[in-house]
Amino acid sequence: MSSQQVIVIGAGIVGICIALSLRKRDRDVLLIDRLPPASETSYGNAGVICNSGIHPLADPELLSQAPKLLANLDPRFLLNYSDLPWLATWLMRFARNCNRTTFEQCTSQVATLTADALPRHLNLMKQAGALDLLNDTGWLKLFRSTSRLSSSRKLLSDYQHFGVTCEVLDGTEVRDLEPDLGIDYAGGWWLKNTPSVLDPGLLCQNYFDLLISQGGHFEQCEIESIEPVDNNWRISAKDSVLNATKIVLAMGAWSNHLLKPLGVRLPFALERGYHMMFAYPEGKQLNRSVVDIELGYVITPMRDGLRTTTGSNLVAREVPPKDRQLQTLLPHIRETFPLGRPLLEKPWMGRRASTPDSQPLIGPIRRHPGLYVATGHCHLGLTLGPITGELIADEICGQPNSLCKPFYPDRNSSTMHMP
Ligand SMILES: Cc1cc2nc3c(=O)[nH]c(=O)nc-3n(C[C@H](O)[C@H](O)[C@H](O)COP(=O)(O)OP(=O)(O)OC[C@H]3O[C@@H](n4cnc5c(N)ncnc54)[C@H](O)[C@@H]3O)c2cc1C
Repeated sequence: MSSQQVIVIGAGIVGICIALSLRKRDRDVLLIDRLPPASETSYGNAGVICNSGIHPLADPELLSQAPKLLANLDPRFLLNYSDLPWLATWLMRFARNCNRTTFEQCTSQVATLTADALPRHLNLMKQAGALDLLNDTGWLKLFRSTSRLSSSRKLLSDYQHFGVTCEVLDGTEVRDLEPDLGIDYAGGWWLKNTPSVLDPGLLCQNYFDLLISQGGHFEQCEIESIEPVDNNWRISAKDSVLNATKIVLAMGAWSNHLLKPLGVRLPFALERGYHMMFAYPEGKQLNRSVVDIELGYVITPMRDGLRTTTGSNLVAREVPPKDRQLQTLLPHIRETFPLGRPLLEKPWMGRRASTPDSQPLIGPIRRHPGLYVATGHCHLGLTLGPITGELIADEICGQPNSLCKPFYPDRNSSTMHMP
């Protein structure tokens, strides 16, 4: 049985960044994952460092679209009906958050995190020698209809307020920027300072290598349980037991598994998303990541090809992947940009841990001293990894940052229930 100062469970972007921030503060840290680093959600996302992603999903505008969404008639969203008994509470909380006051409050809270996301990534990329993975040509939001373009306009004032650089383009200007798009869009928003990365999995691997070079440790094993014993934490895997004074659960969508026996349940559902990789079509070029706002898919130019990702497939538990969402979207994706041959035999699937208020869960579980969580990053885990690392490390080192408070897992009774 060995003893560590801090053990971080989960080596996705969030866990790796937490371990890096702890090493920066000279803490002895062991990172654990059942798989090699960044093998799950952090591997296959759309790669956008989405510092412009300030708006929560729970948007008052969505309420009028609810019938279509819940009937699975909107390709941005696919609800797993057999999970409804488990999802009902989450959906009701989500609906309750679809009001102007909560929307504005959540926007300004997340903006405090996204504001620093890019400088922190750039700093890590520099240290990790990963700057060549950055594509800094911005992010392009594409609107098919003028009605959607004008109904979305009110979000622009938030961009202005929170310092997000956005240039509004008409259809011609969109085409000038991306001449090889397959259809004419009504217009677009060019988020000039929102970059993407050419390989999110490799970026995480580079951050992980940096961690090891800075004295961090890694062990590959599946943790089966955690329990408080004599002011310490006992962490049990199949063939080993470890001790730590403090532990952080950064297990993304799996974070509740170890919390259940402690009487803690974090309020997130699984928003699954799919990706498919395609070769670049000959003679065509996509210069930047683009998102089709009406249909919710993203196409990102990556090192090894074009990556297309879907919106949400909401589930409560592990059920087989539903290819339907991607299959429905593919003809539209091909309209947006002519894809080359598929590079994967079947779509990749990832799981976003999504809270009903789109706010991550970062901080201590106060009724269990020494236990911290960092999950619930919804669509922004890649973006918020480095700032999350800093906030958790500050908490662990006894110097909590006031920025973290709004994201505490027990921030209000409606976001956490303990049976
Ligand atoms: C299709 C899609 C597109 C996305 N696009 C973007 C984007 O463009 N920008 C952005 O910012 N975010 C994006 N996201 C979200 C982002 O990918 C996630 O928020 C982020 O990867 C979450 O990171 P994580 O470290 O919390 O979780 P993960 O990367 O899932 O890591 C959790 C780790 O915990 C480990 N684990 C689980 N259980 C155990 C156990 N018992 N013992 C040991 N280890 C365990 C797992 O093996 C895993 O490695 C996207 C997500 C999806 C699905």
